[in-house]
Amino acid sequence: IKNIGVFTSGGDAPGMNASLYAIIKAASLKNITITGIWQGYDGMVDASFTHLHPKNLAPHVHQGGTIIKTSRSPRFLTLKGRIKAAKNLKKAKIDALIAIGGDGTFRGLMALKEICDIPTIGIPGTIDNDMMGTDYTLGFDSAVNTAINAIDNIRDTAESHNRIFLVEVMGRDSGYIAINSGLCTAADGILIPESKKDQVLLLNKLQHFKNRESLIIVVAEGDETGAIVMAEKIKAINKKVDVRITILGHIQRGGNPTAFDRLLGIRLGVAALDEVLKGTTNVMAGLLNNKITFTPFEKVVKQHKVQTELKELVELFSR
Ligand code: ADP
Repeated sequence: IKNIGVFTSGGDAPGMNASLYAIIKAASLKNITITGIWQGYDGMVDASFTHLHPKNLAPHVHQGGTIIKTSRSPRFLTLKGRIKAAKNLKKAKIDALIAIGGDGTFRGLMALKEICDIPTIGIPGTIDNDMMGTDYTLGFDSAVNTAINAIDNIRDTAESHNRIFLVEVMGRDSGYIAINSGLCTAADGILIPESKKDQVLLLNKLQHFKNRESLIIVVAEGDETGAIVMAEKIKAINKKVDVRITILGHIQRGGNPTAFDRLLGIRLGVAALDEVLKGTTNVMAGLLNNKITFTPFEKVVKQHKVQTELKELVELFSR
């Protein structure tokens, strides 16, 4: 293996640049060429390639996003698109791939394997943290910290009035960001997609709300209702309350990666490079109990990881 193609795909996440930097730096010390593939699978289909040197990445380690860009690529979902991508990889003499992305990205690598026999390794990059095979995904810690800072600001104004603040955080299928940011900000309620009980507990509590204090409720975007509908439900049971909604949205995706995410990106990047050079294929590098592990893509994409260990705390906080 002399030339490794590297790309970022799916949703961007803080820490991707740090991981790219580590891969390129470690590769340069082993005289391996790193070819950057622009914009995820779209760049593979279009043969949009570039050579990457550590000096290209070092100034971006502290930044969120991904400097080689990312995409959701409908063309790669078609066999025609994948055949084109495989031909382009061959032509560019790329003989292994490292992808930073979510489970969709790894499904893509599994599909590519059917027509192209080069080793592929994945690095988990998604702020949602709901991937099997790793305790943490790149970007999760940064996104939680961003959400916490925003909720802390809302707390200041909340304490000056008697209102209910609903803060919607990211997590289409996953309550990780809501649970962790909600616990860290002493939220009065945390609503997550994985639970139906949480809404019932909260609405019971709000029936007796006397409008003489402020409450902060953190709602995952993928919760049964989301913040907007939840506000209507609250108003339906208690007309007197003043409900305010803040949807944090893409603020949570950007921003400088935390030390944790940078180090995670660096550790997983170097480990992925070493492993792909051994010829290992179709596995994701992850961190389980603070040890680097490699889990087959089939296992990673089978189901989403659910945060169970803090469930009791979440219920306690919703009472
Ligand atoms: P993420 O990697 O963050 O989960 P997506 O689900 O959007 O993001 O997946 C990223 C890209 O991976 C998709 O836009 C598509 O090009 C490719 N992909 C996803 N699933 C498959 C699949 N089953 N077969 C081929 N390519 C896929």
